[in-house]
Parts: sequence; structure tokens; C-alpha cells
Amino acid sequence: MFKSAVLKLTLVYVAIVMVISVGFSIALYNISSQEIGRGLGRQTGMLRDLPINGNPFIQDLERIRAEQIDESNSHLQTNLIYFNLIILVSSAIISYFLARRTLRPIEEAMEAQNRFTADASHELRTPLTAMRVETEVSLRDKNLKLDEAKTLLKSNLEEISKLEYLSSALLKLSQYQDNSKIEFKPVDLVLAGKEAIEKIEKMADQKEITINGRFQKTQVLGDRPSLVEVFIILLDNAVKYSPKNSQIDFEIKKVDKHIEAKISDQGIGIKASDLPHIFDRFYRADLSRSKEKVDGYGLGLSIAKRIVELHSGTIYAKSKIEKGSQFTLTLKAI
Ligand code: ADP
Repeated sequence: MFKSAVLKLTLVYVAIVMVISVGFSIALYNISSQEIGRGLGRQTGMLRDLPINGNPFIQDLERIRAEQIDESNSHLQTNLIYFNLIILVSSAIISYFLARRTLRPIEEAMEAQNRFTADASHELRTPLTAMRVETEVSLRDKNLKLDEAKTLLKSNLEEISKLEYLSSALLKLSQYQDNSKIEFKPVDLVLAGKEAIEKIEKMADQKEITINGRFQKTQVLGDRPSLVEVFIILLDNAVKYSPKNSQIDFEIKKVDKHIEAKISDQGIGIKASDLPHIFDRFYRADLSRSKEKVDGYGLGLSIAKRIVELHSGTIYAKSKIEKGSQFTLTLKAI
């Protein structure tokens, strides 16, 4: 499909170039042949005015003149045909490369879209299959007890929650594809930070994790709910990937004309080989080091990155295995 699109675009480019080139050549041919005719006509006219008029020499001259005009015109024609052939070949080569370059980002976007659809379908299918298999097995069991049925329903409920989480994450990703739905207003980041901590506190308490917020008064131009969302994603990860009874530092400060928000944990850390990929959709690092099973779909950081990009900011991570990770977010201050 990509190849045929490249060929079609190449043909369009070549057709445009050739229409211009052939049109230009026809105009050039007409003007030049008129000029040649006029120039030689003037010479013969001058000779005809001489007293040697009526001389057969003048008739010869007229014939030679007509031959010369024909010869010059056919020379011009041949040159213009060669010229157009060269233009055709070179424009075809250049157009092909230009068409490939033009369509490359579209091809990459399509590939990413296909990969995303395949990953999303796979993730959606896994809990659905689990639910179907469990339900089928239970239905086949004629002596199914109430306890067992309740266990099944509980397990199905867990899978449904996963599906809910996944579909809402997918929805967010699609919402943040462009900034048309984002309203940029002055946002007090201290309030946004505190709101995010409040939402995560319960989860942190369960693991006896303390979140230390150190906030300098700062404001950015942005969308408050989505910025709170970024902080929640980073804090949620910090809690998820940290051991019990540890500390999370959440600092917001102004550095020159920017604000810097840093969330540091004392968790399991991220391998150097995983670091470049953690912001990719559906990427999950190998968690065999983690003692407990950590739920997730590898979508949180890609949503966070998308939101930060919509705010023209940056986000990156530093990490040391078994020591902890630090996520830094920079935004333009107002
Ligand atoms: P997930 O739902 O899997 O947490 P994310 O996109 O939020 O998805 O994160 C991608 C991956 O990055 C995670 O699976 C995890 O391996 C790694 N990661 C993110 N944050 C941390 C952290 N604070 N500490 C250790 N690993 C992390």
C-alpha cells in the first residue's frame, strides 16, 4: 500500500513538472522560431532592396533562407525533446525520493497505529478470555457450590475492573492526541500537587509509604485536571514500585523561567536497558525483581508524556536498580 502511494505521488509530481516543462518548451519553440524567421527575413529583405534585384541569386537566397529556417527549427525541436527527456528522467528520480520522504511520517504513523491496535486488542482479549474460561468451567460443574460461585464472581469482578481501567486509559490516550480539548489557564501547581497526593495517600498508607511534598509557589499555563493526572501517574508508579515503609519525595520548584517537578522514590528502580522505553505505549519492564505482582498495562507513562508534550514541557527519568527512580517534569513558568 505504501509503495503504490509512493508511485502515485511520484506520478503526480512528474506530471506537474512535465506539464510545466512541455508548456515552457512549446512557448520557447514558438518564440524562437518566430525570431529566427524574422531575423533571416530581414536579411533577405535587405538583399532584395539592393540594385541586384531580379537576380536569380535572390531566389537562391530565399530557398536557402527557407531551408535555414527549417533546419534551425528542427535543431531547436531536437534540443527541446532532449531537454524534456532529461527533465522527465531526472524529475522521476527526484520525485520518487521526495514522495518517499513526504509519505514516510504517514507510514510510520500508520505502523504505530497498527501496533497500538494490535496491542490494545491483545490486552482487552486477555481478561475477556480468562472470564469466559472460568465461567464456562463453572457452568459445566453440576455441583457448583455457592462459595465457588462467589469466588468466580469475585474473580470476574477483578477482570472487569482491569477492563475498566484499560478502557479508560485507552480513552485518555485518544483524548490527548491533540490539544483541542485542553483549556490552557493559569494553574497553581502547589494545589495540583496537593490534589494528586490526596488521591494517592490511601494507597501509600496501605504500604506505609510517606509522601514528602516540598512545594514552592509556582504557576504554569495549562490544564489543571491533566496536570494533576500526570502527578497521579508518577506518584502511583512510585508507590507501586516501592517497598513497604519507604519514602517518596515530591518537590516542585522554580528554576529560571521553568518549573521543575521531581518525584523520587526508593523503589526497585529501572534497568538502563528499559529506561529508553518506559514512555512507550504498553511497555512494561521486566518485574521479576519485584517481590509482589504489580498490575498495570504500561500506559500510564505514555499518557503522562503525551500530556506534558501538549504543555510543551519535558519529562524524563533517572534510575538506579534497587536504589530508586526519579522522574523530572519541566514546564514553562508564568
Ligand atoms: P504500568 O501500568 O506498567 O505502571 P507505566 O507506563 O506507568 O505502566 O510504566 C511503564 C513501566 O515503567 C512500568 O511497567 C515499570 O516497569 C516502569 N516504571 C515506571 N515507574 C517506575 C518507578 N517509579 N519505579 C520503577 N519502575 C517504574
